[in-house]
Amino acid sequence: MSERSDVLIVGGGPGGSTLGRALARQGLDVTIVDKQTFPRDKVCAGWVTPAVMESLDLDPNEYARDAVLQPIHAFRTGMLGQRTVVSRYPEPASYGIRRYEFDAWLLERAINDGVRTAQGQPLKELRREDGEWVLNDHLRTPLLIGAGGHFCPVARHLGAAKPGSSETAVHAQEIEFEMTPEQAAACPVEADVPELYFLRDLSGYGWIVRKGDWLNIGLGREGGQKLGEQVSAFAEELKAMGRLHIDPPSKFKGHAYLLHGHSPRPPVHDGALLIGDAAGLAYPQSGEGIRPAVESALMAAEVIGAAGGDYSADRLAAFGDRLQRRFGKGSAAGEPGPVKQALARPLMASSWFARHVILDRWFLHRHQAPLAPAA
Ligand SMILES: Cc1cc2nc3c(=O)[nH]c(=O)nc-3n(C[C@H](O)[C@H](O)[C@H](O)COP(=O)(O)OP(=O)(O)OC[C@H]3O[C@@H](n4cnc5c(N)ncnc54)[C@H](O)[C@@H]3O)c2cc1C
Repeated sequence: MSERSDVLIVGGGPGGSTLGRALARQGLDVTIVDKQTFPRDKVCAGWVTPAVMESLDLDPNEYARDAVLQPIHAFRTGMLGQRTVVSRYPEPASYGIRRYEFDAWLLERAINDGVRTAQGQPLKELRREDGEWVLNDHLRTPLLIGAGGHFCPVARHLGAAKPGSSETAVHAQEIEFEMTPEQAAACPVEADVPELYFLRDLSGYGWIVRKGDWLNIGLGREGGQKLGEQVSAFAEELKAMGRLHIDPPSKFKGHAYLLHGHSPRPPVHDGALLIGDAAGLAYPQSGEGIRPAVESALMAAEVIGAAGGDYSADRLAAFGDRLQRRFGKGSAAGEPGPVKQALARPLMASSWFARHVILDRWFLHRHQAPLAPAA
């Protein structure tokens, strides 16, 4: 027997849960389908800015009662092999969260606001029938949302390139583990000072971040060739620099995603929208994708609410316009040339550049006011 929802969202990450909750609060009947059962692991460094907390209407004190929340008061930045700079902030400039907890918390809150979920159910089959979508032969809807991350099956169905073919994605590997009390006491990385190390060819960066007693180490860059070797070399370099004092207990895990403007995926279709990583929205300089996932969800909720049940591509086109006004057209992928690399070296070591350009502009987006949370 088939089940019908006003809106079906494929993917229960920050994008899917934010949109689901916003639409349920508008009175729509929403189902989120996810191949995994929450809580689930998600490869991510797990930084969110205060703007994300505000758009999510999430009180950090309330969240911290049940989950790891590490306020960040400073960043150590630099190019590998060069002098590093520490930039301090009087208020928390960011927060470290564990995606295992954060995504489950957001999804649970959406469920409490009326969203139904079908967890542990991968989207296997999708077809259009009588102007509606039919998923896995039994879930029907007039409006389908692709929120399934980089490998979103809805995005693929709507024409996204096969992962690894023509799209230039960021490939990243990461590990997150809880240190023993002895390891935490000896850890050279301060809990509220994450460290970012730009690669010498400027193709990406590595990080070592502490969230209380949890340690997260990773590296991301455009193109996936020999990434594993580069990640191992990065871990060895951290040790040689005295920034990593232990051997990570297991292997690094990998994932990929698109930066905004690099191989764009059209976000608007007849009866369907793409949000978050499915639409390839992560910020180009930092790779931050949680804020664009949340913001695209909030913008989609407003456009869907205003559409009054007419989900034609024409009626939903306002979503594409809003994305472009918010995130711009995006810059094309490109290798930084040797001149840029030579110029970058002294800039990366400059305290002014680190604070005002790398952090405030590229990583924290402090110039952009947060979007208001869902009504
Ligand atoms: C190593 C790494 C570090 C990162 N660090 C940061 C960071 O510190 N801060 C930041 O803001 N961003 C970071 N990002 C980017 C960030 O993780 C993503 O941009 C963000 O998760 C996008 O959210 P989303 O809701 O669009 O998709 P996701 O969070 O990817 O959620 C997609 C959901 O869809 C589900 N799904 C997938 N396929 C199917 C299917 N076939 N059927 C049903 N369900 C499916 C998945 O199970 C998943 O739950 C990082 C990314 C990586 C790889």
